[in-house]
Amino acid sequence: MDLGIRGKRALVCASSKGLGRGCAAALAEAGVDLVMNARGAAALEAAAAEIRAVHQVGVVTVPCDITTGAGRAAVLAQGPFDILVTNAGGPPPGLWSDWSREDFLRAIDANMLTPIALMQAVLPGMMAKGWGRVVNITSVSVKAPVPVLGLSNTARAGLTGFVAGTARQVAGKGVTINNLLPGIHATDRAVALDGAVVKARGITMEDAIAERSATIPAGRYGTAAEFGATCAFLCSSHAGFIVGQNILLDGGATNATL
Ligand code: NAP
Repeated sequence: MDLGIRGKRALVCASSKGLGRGCAAALAEAGVDLVMNARGAAALEAAAAEIRAVHQVGVVTVPCDITTGAGRAAVLAQGPFDILVTNAGGPPPGLWSDWSREDFLRAIDANMLTPIALMQAVLPGMMAKGWGRVVNITSVSVKAPVPVLGLSNTARAGLTGFVAGTARQVAGKGVTINNLLPGIHATDRAVALDGAVVKARGITMEDAIAERSATIPAGRYGTAAEFGATCAFLCSSHAGFIVGQNILLDGGATNATL
């Protein structure tokens, strides 16, 4: 299917690896020029070089921390953008009783206030043009809390509330905002979460992955490529009537009717 977005320009945050990279690659495959970002310059340049070579699109790299004001200013200076994909690393796991006010503020800054600031920066330009797409990478924890990810449960719920209201205020100008909710995907983040299980329970990595896979009706972890393909469709010309939705990509792991 032609996604109808060839020649558009996208900012894909936190995209040198994992789900962000999957989104960047899928948008590039649809002919979208990219601004990619991550903190580590080497991995970012390597990802950008591969995408340029495979998809022949323009890719600008901005190595910086997207959760800082200076980082956001650096990526936004590369605008304007037709498409925004927000993303950043997830908060660390722990127990509800562990976290201090500073821990909560860090998580809220990274996973709620950063995507909100980016949307506030790009939405006026998209609305003036009469076309725009925003996809926020959030988490399954928005629909079904993950006990060890209380910081994520908290911060992402706040972002979800902001999107629910804002998406309906900008839709009339041809701009859609939706959230993609990953369940477990085979990325470095999953390795870190499984590594914590290995450490806590003294089991092998293979056993930790097998145990977690057994909780997923699809029987496996998701891939960054299939996550990216869903993101690219949400950014496509065909998705203009999908507004303010929270789309769960979890292989059926969340046992719910709706
Ligand atoms: P990942 O494989 O660890 O990749 C994270 C990417 O983000 C890397 O490119 C990393 O590069 C970049 N990054 C991290 N913090 C950044 C920052 N402050 N500024 C700029 N770039 C940053 O993670 P992932 O699995 O793709 O996860 C992406 C998001 O989805 C996370 O918020 C995660 O919590 C959430 N999620 C993932 C899963 C899963 O199963 N994978 C499930 C639910 C939710 P640098 O380190 O070089 O900056």
